[in-house]
Amino acid sequence: MMNNDQGLVVARRKHWSNVIHQELSARAASRLLSLLDHLNDHILFEDKPVSSLGRRHHAFFVRFLKKASHALQKDLLLFDLRLEWNEVSLLLEGRKSAEFASGNKEKEKGVVVFIRHSISMEAKEYGGDASTITNGGECLDEEDRLWLIETIEAKLQHKNVFDYERLNVEVLKSAIKVLSFVQEQTGYVLDTKKVVHGEKLHIEPDDENIEFTAEHQWNYSASSSGVVLFPDANLFTDEHWKYWKEVRTSHKVGSRRLFRDYEFRVITLFHEVIHCFQGHKWVFEDFKLWQAEFEASYSQLDLLHLAANVVDTDNEIWRDGFAEESMLWLFDLVREIHALIKEETCDSKKELLIGYEAWVSSHGRISPVSQSSDELFEQNKSHNTYLKCRLPLEVFSEGQQLVSYFKYRWCADLSTKDTYNMGHQVPHDLISAFSFDQ
Ligand SMILES: [Zn+2]
Repeated sequence: MMNNDQGLVVARRKHWSNVIHQELSARAASRLLSLLDHLNDHILFEDKPVSSLGRRHHAFFVRFLKKASHALQKDLLLFDLRLEWNEVSLLLEGRKSAEFASGNKEKEKGVVVFIRHSISMEAKEYGGDASTITNGGECLDEEDRLWLIETIEAKLQHKNVFDYERLNVEVLKSAIKVLSFVQEQTGYVLDTKKVVHGEKLHIEPDDENIEFTAEHQWNYSASSSGVVLFPDANLFTDEHWKYWKEVRTSHKVGSRRLFRDYEFRVITLFHEVIHCFQGHKWVFEDFKLWQAEFEASYSQLDLLHLAANVVDTDNEIWRDGFAEESMLWLFDLVREIHALIKEETCDSKKELLIGYEAWVSSHGRISPVSQSSDELFEQNKSHNTYLKCRLPLEVFSEGQQLVSYFKYRWCADLSTKDTYNMGHQVPHDLISAFSFDQ
């Protein structure tokens, strides 16, 4: 337990509040929020068996911590919090994660306690009548953690906190760079004459027809002519938010994260650039465009990983773990929609989940639902997002499968009956292991 002195708590929070509002940049605040969220994460902290995807989630978290370590140390020091880096390093080096992966619940709990206690408070006086926190090294307690989360959320819930345009332009440049890299690896793959460029969706806040235009302005899209359209959430009206709220009906912690969602939604660009290159070799009509969606989603996180860790490592945007942080965000998004689907009536739930498996097993050749991708998008934005966002989490291979997949998809003379088989079998273990309910 923390020191019970109310005066001390008030003084400490006053100090933290100043730090959050005056000293932390939006990016730093957001990064700290990711850490605080996942410190108490269900996968790491609940007494449950660990699925393959759970281990994958753990790996994203470890990588995020590893990359963000320097920046996080700095941010934490502003709060007089301390990350016991030597101890966390042991975890990162795999000694603890090996125990974690062994499925031994006691050891898993050990890791939980270990990380939680690795964040501790330094002894520090706050103002006149506040006493000193005993001996530095008290771990951050649950109440303080939730207070911090709430206060940071409040800072990030306004427009113009994030520069979405710059983020989108930077990420798109990186996505194009990584596609050129894939092209070098595969020989001729992409249409080199094609120039991909991004355009911000035009939004006029006093547009009289906003009710109708907003539906096309809140989301990402791409065309085979090479144009990627991206939204700027700083210009959104309630009409625009209405659509994103259909996808994000709840957040794991708090509900004031709509603006922050669009910070991480920029990774959608890795999905959209694939659409730009889906050309004449693609026979999609029979598949209601679900095969095109399969390809774009299949590649998304591997491209992101290659950009952040192989091709564009000098880019400031990836240095502090933004790619891994975005993967954690995507995981949470899918987990939340999955939980809602479980509550739906039996038939629709079964249909979607069985459809998803068929879609993945057939490498996109079997549609997951009876509607086309566009129809589903109109009817149920959350189901549409679920299908497209769950897939990349499950097939993530750190780029290993991507090159061979592109070679097959874009170099081979295809007939629609071909089955992709380049040493990568359908990840059945992941499909069956994917369960947030275990
Ligand atoms: Zn798509």
